[in-house]
Amino acid sequence: MTKINLPETGQPRIVIVGGGFAGLALARQLAGKPFQVVLIDRNNYHQFQPLFYQVAMAGLEPSSIVFPFRKLFQDYSNVYIRVTEVASIETENRRLITPLGIVNYDVLVIATGAETNFFGNAKLAQLAIPMKSVSEALYLRNAILDDYEKALTCPDVEERQGYLDIVIVGGGPTGVEVAGSLAEMKQYILPKDYPELNVSEIDIHLIQGSGELLTGMSNAASQKALAFLKELGVHVKLNTIVVDFDGEKVSMNDGTTLRARKVIWAAGVTGAPLPGLPETARGPAGRIRVDRFHKVDGLDEVYAIGDIAYMEEEAYPKGHPQLAQAAMQQAANLASNLLRQKAGKPLRTFKYRNLGSMATIGRHRAVVDLPRFQFQGAFAWLIWLLVHLFQILGVKNKVFVFFNWVWNYLTYDQSLRLIIRPRAPSHKNN
Ligand SMILES: Cc1cc2nc3c(=O)[nH]c(=O)nc-3n(C[C@H](O)[C@H](O)[C@H](O)COP(=O)(O)OP(=O)(O)OC[C@H]3O[C@@H](n4cnc5c(N)ncnc54)[C@H](O)[C@@H]3O)c2cc1C
Repeated sequence: MTKINLPETGQPRIVIVGGGFAGLALARQLAGKPFQVVLIDRNNYHQFQPLFYQVAMAGLEPSSIVFPFRKLFQDYSNVYIRVTEVASIETENRRLITPLGIVNYDVLVIATGAETNFFGNAKLAQLAIPMKSVSEALYLRNAILDDYEKALTCPDVEERQGYLDIVIVGGGPTGVEVAGSLAEMKQYILPKDYPELNVSEIDIHLIQGSGELLTGMSNAASQKALAFLKELGVHVKLNTIVVDFDGEKVSMNDGTTLRARKVIWAAGVTGAPLPGLPETARGPAGRIRVDRFHKVDGLDEVYAIGDIAYMEEEAYPKGHPQLAQAAMQQAANLASNLLRQKAGKPLRTFKYRNLGSMATIGRHRAVVDLPRFQFQGAFAWLIWLLVHLFQILGVKNKVFVFFNWVWNYLTYDQSLRLIIRPRAPSHKNN
């Protein structure tokens, strides 16, 4: 296998696998510094995952929440981007194997994030719809709109129910936000778009395995989220696990079933470490075990940050929460340590600073947990909007998202309800 085309600049080569919150933050902090930085991602863009659900609910254009890597690094000659999927690592030879060729590294940073966890259920993995990429969010948008179109011409009540009803599995922030957003779509948009449909026939079900929503947030946040969803007419079922789905019928562990063709899977994530890592690196939930300096256990010059990394800290004995904040803080500490190491200075151990967590459940409804206090309702919703707007990359994206939100707020009507089915030119299908 040949080497991937990269110039030898004489600077130490830091290869970052994954341009999510962690990998991208690290690459940005090392841009313009005395390293050759190679950023590898299977996509040529960064994805802002917290707003996937708004793409799926036709509230935002996919292009407003993704950002091309090349545009970000136009002014930095020490950053090289390669769009490919890393297949494995050969730590003894300090190299990565990709379909484009071999990539040698002096320092390797694994920031590959997490993937959807179907808990080993192959049928659910095949038929349920996850939301871990912008393409999956778009797929969901198409599936929802397509099924409403089919429901219009379906005379059979039972079959129509299957097209209309939606089951969301997982009552974490993603499940709760999707449920709230779908309930608002049902209330404000569908009666205008589909006057022939009886929207009261549409049922939105949220199934949560544990006894409360938003596990990990405060009790007040869990209770309020439940109350908000009930106000919006969402059927919430706690202490229930979805065990099967055949594309038409969803089965629960209490023996009950629901008729629905769409199951949105928001029940959790798991790490998927790259092949080639030693046994010592294996942490819980598929994550990679690292020390307080982000170094992978048992390896030299190999680091892991973000969702994939498992670091035990006194205050977080089971690892850090898999959140954007943790990913970015880890990236900042590693960047600073790589620079300190080069300057011969002592390294700093990582300490996670919890800045709080939040979730929104439709307009004027959100829950916010800050380290010292919690609040819910309209003010929390405003804070949620501001925090997310501030975090989106790029001025153009911020402006587009802001105008979309203002427009949707004033008109109760997004205009992105398009069913776009990507298709290759016919000669490519031959
Ligand atoms: C729907 C949803 C909503 C969320 N909402 C919030 C929220 O409101 N607040 C919050 O703090 N967190 C939220 N999160 C969690 C947050 O997005 C993650 O914690 C964060 O993305 C982790 O960053 P990361 O860099 O570790 O991984 P990611 O951001 O997932 O990035 C991983 C990158 O690695 C690339 N990659 C993976 N494997 C390979 C490979 N083999 N070769 C090449 N490239 C590869 C991927 O393409 C991706 O770009 C949400 C997550 C989801 C899915």
